[in-house]
Amino acid sequence: MPESNLQNADPRARHATLVRLHADLEACRRCPGMQGPPVHSAAVLSPVMVIGQAPGTREIEQLRPFCWTAGKTLFGWFASIGLNEAACRERLLISAVCRCFPGKNPKGGDRVPDRGEVERCGGWWRAEMNLLRPRLIIPVGKLAIAQVMEFRLLNEVIGQQWPYRSKMGWTADIIPLPHPSGASTWFKMEPGRTLLAQALERIAAHPDWRGLADLDTPEPIDGRMPVAD
Ligand code: SF4
Repeated sequence: MPESNLQNADPRARHATLVRLHADLEACRRCPGMQGPPVHSAAVLSPVMVIGQAPGTREIEQLRPFCWTAGKTLFGWFASIGLNEAACRERLLISAVCRCFPGKNPKGGDRVPDRGEVERCGGWWRAEMNLLRPRLIIPVGKLAIAQVMEFRLLNEVIGQQWPYRSKMGWTADIIPLPHPSGASTWFKMEPGRTLLAQALERIAAHPDWRGLADLDTPEPIDGRMPVAD
């Protein structure tokens, strides 16, 4: 179906397309330097889209994004503003810049995906985003933030809300977060600690987050409430 028709399609049709997209993603093996299988979240037509960097070894074993230490920290942040991990997995679309494990960096931590990998994998999160047309985008970490807005330093963008305008013309709010990796000290020291708290306050106050956090039973309403597989 052409993208312009997809945007107008009813939520069930868009959800079915998202499920098919994820099936195609699972079969992707385009990057020789990446370790699959590719990881994706539940197919949730959510008004809130989280974009991480790339899965780690545990994520590709369990086939779930943010399922280990960084995820514990991230879901802890989200739980503090009304959505625990189970609710996040049911109600948010959790995407990533790259969907396979990049391998280890000899200097420690996971390798940052290279430009070609970021470019190749970008088609997947962009396709998800164009199906969702989210109203709130939460990029997590520098690599994810750089995909949706221009920035120099985390200190200059965390704690604030920014506009996003897609090439198709729809708009959203961006509230970036730092990467919750245990290797990162940015959010544990000032000014990162205060800026992180401000970012979480902004997310908590965003109407689309509030709608999900207040939601007892997710139901599709006008394509904006979650439709999960
Ligand atoms: S990183 Fe992305 S584009 Fe590359 S093989 Fe994995 S899913 Fe495909």
